[in-house]
Amino acid sequence: YTKKKKIFTGVAITQNITDDKQNERELKKSKEEAERANRSKTDFLARVSHEIRTPLNAILGFTEQLKQSTLNKQQNDYVDIIEKSSEHLLTLINDILVLSKIEARQIRFEKSPFKLNYTIKYIYNTLLVKANEKNIRFTYNVDQKLDQILIGDQFRLKQILINLLGNAIKFTNTGSVELKCILDEEIHDKVKVRFDVIDTGIGIKPENLKNIFERFKQANSSITKRYGGTGLGLAICKNLIELQGGSLSVSSKEGVGTTFSFIIPYKKGKPDDFIPDDIETTYSKRLKDKKVLLVDDDKFNRLLAKTILDKFECITTLAINGSEAIAYLENQNFHLVLLDIHMAGTSGVDVAEFIRKQKRDRNTKIIAVTAAVLKDDIQKYFSVGMDDFLIKPFKEAELYNKMCEVLEINKSKKDIAYKLNIVEETTKSEQYDLSELVKMANMDKTFINSMLATFIENSESTIHLFKKYVKDENWVEIGETAHKILPSYRHLKINDVVRKLNEIKKITLINPSYEEVPELTKGTVKLMEKILEDLKKEMK
Ligand code: ADP
Repeated sequence: YTKKKKIFTGVAITQNITDDKQNERELKKSKEEAERANRSKTDFLARVSHEIRTPLNAILGFTEQLKQSTLNKQQNDYVDIIEKSSEHLLTLINDILVLSKIEARQIRFEKSPFKLNYTIKYIYNTLLVKANEKNIRFTYNVDQKLDQILIGDQFRLKQILINLLGNAIKFTNTGSVELKCILDEEIHDKVKVRFDVIDTGIGIKPENLKNIFERFKQANSSITKRYGGTGLGLAICKNLIELQGGSLSVSSKEGVGTTFSFIIPYKKGKPDDFIPDDIETTYSKRLKDKKVLLVDDDKFNRLLAKTILDKFECITTLAINGSEAIAYLENQNFHLVLLDIHMAGTSGVDVAEFIRKQKRDRNTKIIAVTAAVLKDDIQKYFSVGMDDFLIKPFKEAELYNKMCEVLEINKSKKDIAYKLNIVEETTKSEQYDLSELVKMANMDKTFINSMLATFIENSESTIHLFKKYVKDENWVEIGETAHKILPSYRHLKINDVVRKLNEIKKITLINPSYEEVPELTKGTVKLMEKILEDLKKEMK
């Protein structure tokens, strides 16, 4: 009996351990699977949101065009609804993307020096227009003790504050919205900063206050009807604050007002951590509502130019090639055409000839946007009736100046309306420099990532073509391919690759020396692959 019992116990223990081990392994496996699923969910969402955003941009763009045309009252109302709904959809997509990144723990926080004063001033200026529109008082105050260099993520801080202040302005109809930044605690090399967003708005009912930070929660459904919104903003803010080691709280009284308070700890920086190297420029509205046709067969370039033109508040129409440009020009008039020259099929020169000769249009201004600036080229541009040219890659200010010149708009000193010495968070490495891109994108990370994604996509297809053409010994196509991708690499200041691409162009298109092409192309591909790998890491 004793013996039997022993054996029984023995068996039981063995089984337990096996079970535990098994469980543990399974748990680990399912955890890994969940993580993988989460990652691919985020990748999927990122892709989908990018895909949705593209047609949505078109919807918004053309709705705007439609609004310019003569519409009756009812049509006008319909167009307004289309516009509001697509704007709503755009916000929703952006919000979902951020939340999914948070959930997949794919969000990283910058640890860069910044000055709170500048960051707050920037946010204040951004939102002041809205507050003025609603005729409510909008003020801010930064504790003098916070006049120092902080280390942390100012982009996320902007995102959080724009969300909370945006809500405060949205839900306040009379009275004021106030932002206070207070030094809450200072321990060794850390400061805890408290931000109070105080409004005298409609307030939130106690029963709604409880779950206000949950996703898709709006105080009640009539709110959505009256004020719009997605109900994701607060959930995002809470996550972003807590992931930085902070906390968010709210107090509110119906009909009296609401205060959102949050604390974020920052490290203290040293004065020489701070390099105000870049100046943010704001343009006056001289180019506002100018109708611009942008013709470029490269997606990257189109995106870039569109962003800049949006900042100038131009009404931009995009054409993806020469024949699409001509189709637009047949039905519409533009103030200005920004014309890429080197395009497959109908070239920029052909488009210019269409405008001047066939359409007999002398009024529309034409600026050639090109990487080719040999004297002969330029003579050619002028001879077909173009007004000026701009060399790729161009800076925002260059485009602005050139457009004003060509459209005969006087620039004034006020054009650089105010300069904010805010730190631009630039990603500088020896291989590439994203600073110009960051600046142009107005520090919109999602946008930057979508640009980089396009850049990577284009580069990958270039690499593919290079490999194919080397195999086919098609040297001229190698040259053309190099020419095409060059501006993007120049823009990101990937100088090593730029040099190589130029060499390729030289020995294929200018001074043929074909025997050197395979070696050089292979070297270039290798370099490109290395850089793409690094860029992909950067985007994570
Ligand atoms: P939304 O995009 O709908 O504004 P949020 O998550 O930012 O989403 O806010 C959720 C809800 O919380 C809002 O719909 C509103 O009912 C309520 N709310 C947020 N901020 C305020 C405020 N300052 N005053 C009154 N209600 C607010």
